[in-house]
Amino acid sequence: MHGLTCDRCGKNLLVDEEVRYLLRLEIVAAYDPPEIMPADLERDFDAEIRRLVRSMEGRDAVELEEEVAAVRRFDLCPPCRRALLADPLGGGGGGAPKVS
Ligand SMILES: [Zn+2]
Repeated sequence: MHGLTCDRCGKNLLVDEEVRYLLRLEIVAAYDPPEIMPADLERDFDAEIRRLVRSMEGRDAVELEEEVAAVRRFDLCPPCRRALLADPLGGGGGGAPKVS
């Protein structure tokens, strides 16, 4: 068909397996609303914005965007779907920190 393969194990999808799954991975920056202190109102916001713009100059636009939100899409076969649901972060312990 489309020559689709599982992005995790490389198996031919829709040939070796009759269903496939789409994994959409989205990592977004979490912003917590800052508490405004009296000192914050004294800050020179124009200068801070200029400094921020200067720090972004020359940087890759995609890289900057991905610092805020990165999205990936993967095709998966059924066994890889099961494996990922059982251990989404790949740590072997269902997300708990590994103790060796
Ligand atoms: Zn697979």
